[in-house]
Amino acid sequence: MKNNMIEEIEKYARENDIPIMQKDGIDFMCNYIKEHGVKSILEIGTAIGYSSIKMALVNDNISVVTVERDEERYNEAIKNINKFGLEDRIKVHLCDALDFKIDEKFDLIFIDAAKAQYIKFFEKYKVNLNKNGVIISDNLLFHGFVENIEQVRSKNLRQLVKKLIKYRKFLEENTEFKTTFYEIGDGIAVSKKEE
Ligand code: SAH
Ligand code: MG
Repeated sequence: MKNNMIEEIEKYARENDIPIMQKDGIDFMCNYIKEHGVKSILEIGTAIGYSSIKMALVNDNISVVTVERDEERYNEAIKNINKFGLEDRIKVHLCDALDFKIDEKFDLIFIDAAKAQYIKFFEKYKVNLNKNGVIISDNLLFHGFVENIEQVRSKNLRQLVKKLIKYRKFLEENTEFKTTFYEIGDGIAVSKKEE
């Protein structure tokens, strides 16, 4: 039943070109949540609620706050979350994550939104991490473009790839956080605060 509903969302995403997490990427996230006993999650980039629903389904103690700026996707996310009866554990906010204000602290912050703004998201939300909390970012490989930028013809796309390369460098050189990069899904970075 739940599996069918998940497949429905995956199908909707495919048909409407919505960049939800790849299967191995979301499996990695869910395993991480399970293994580290993550209870509270802040997600930047809800899209249609796919990853928040998958993460909330790991166990009943998990709660998710998630932010989406696109109204149509936000509405679709609300619809999907209601179908799963998860509206008490997943709170979606319709707004730009750069304007969103929240004081709460989280075990995990998941950055999966506009790639050009990753450094800004990271700097803005790092104060919302619990002790031992972690920031996970998606799309570090960007379909392999990051490692083959010379093959990218479109100027706009190249700009975006450059931003991601800059983000990767920002993480590598960050002395406050230690980052491990995984070539899973579209490339995942796990950043932990140094003790
Ligand atoms: N995490 C989702 C996929 C997110 S796709 C999943 O795996 O199911 C990225 C989403 O981020 C898009 O829907 C886009 O509208 C949203 N987004 C991009 N920049 C944003 C911003 N600055 N604030 C809020 N949402 C943003
Ligand atoms: Mg993504």
